[in-house]
Amino acid sequence: MKKVYKKKDSFLERSFLNTVDSNLIKKIQDLRSNENQIKKFSNYELKIIDKAISDCDDQLLNKKSDFNIKNNSLAEIQTLPENKILDYLFHRYRYEIFPDKKITDNYPPLIQIEPSSVCNYRCVFCFMTDKKFSHKKSSHMGTMSLDLYKEIIDKIEDKVQFVTLASRGEPLVNKNLGQMLSYSKDKFLSLKINTNASLLNETNIHDILSNNVSTVVFSADAADKNLYEKLRVRGKFEKVIKNIKLFKDIKEKHYREQKIITRVSGVKFSKDQKFTDMDNFWREYVDQIAFVDYNPWENSYEKAPNNISEACSDLWRRMFIWWDGKVNPCDVDYKSELLLGNIRNYKINEIWRSEKYELLRFKHLNKNRQQVKPCASCYVT
Ligand code: SF4
Repeated sequence: MKKVYKKKDSFLERSFLNTVDSNLIKKIQDLRSNENQIKKFSNYELKIIDKAISDCDDQLLNKKSDFNIKNNSLAEIQTLPENKILDYLFHRYRYEIFPDKKITDNYPPLIQIEPSSVCNYRCVFCFMTDKKFSHKKSSHMGTMSLDLYKEIIDKIEDKVQFVTLASRGEPLVNKNLGQMLSYSKDKFLSLKINTNASLLNETNIHDILSNNVSTVVFSADAADKNLYEKLRVRGKFEKVIKNIKLFKDIKEKHYREQKIITRVSGVKFSKDQKFTDMDNFWREYVDQIAFVDYNPWENSYEKAPNNISEACSDLWRRMFIWWDGKVNPCDVDYKSELLLGNIRNYKINEIWRSEKYELLRFKHLNKNRQQVKPCASCYVT
């Protein structure tokens, strides 16, 4: 059993089929010299942008630097209008570097909103296999109301710029997803949705494409039926291929100009999964293919405490808001023992900088994560 799950390096393998403009870093540097581009930023923001640009300079000169713009970020930048690129750089720096350096400002770099905790799959590596959690009558199961979703969007707009719609369940289970996407349209620099693709249909594909979602991630871990269905229990391989192909066809037919990024991403769970097979098979359908490292999510509360003392970087990277408004620092703790409050009662910064959150960070920073359950037996750093 490996000992540490480095969240920062959780992508094991990736391929990018969309071309990245090789002059993009240079273009970003030119934007910084343009008075019109920078006048809207505060001194605090400019300081971070300058640090990010200076690190990019080092990157171009092959020198060691804190912040490197990787291909996935460059691909995202290419989807943005010019007047949003420096904003992206500011928020990307916060997302990449603040968790490394354990810096908090008023808002989380990323928020994950959970449209549904219910899932139609029972993947072998997922906490959905914990029946006490996923049973139909469990208090953990439900879908977010449109009203609560709108309240959250109103609270985070102009404060948080990276938003992912996904956490413990399958987002497309939520029947209001189309209205949710429409309410979020063009409010964030990056709006991502993760789905197992089994429930995609013409209607929700148009919902995703017409509302300018930035990235859609199709979760699939194999390139053949046997392996796929062994890992993604209850999934039907042919159906998933058909749906992802439908997504591609609708995009090409009706949304040619739409700059959405599509990715197939799998969890590397068994040695039978080969990235070359994934890459060869899925490249026909999407822009990117990836394997992420497996973390034993499915038994967070049964594992023995380990001896990891390094702080968990997710405490400085992202915050989760679940279908019923509960706010949690992560989804490894899928039963919310680390509950921070309910978003209905607080502003985002009040929770992000709350005494409870700060105490949790303090314990981690002081090598006392062993005092906290389930952090004591978790591998994430
Ligand atoms: S359980 Fe604790 S250590 Fe693990 S991801 Fe959550 S906050 Fe981090």
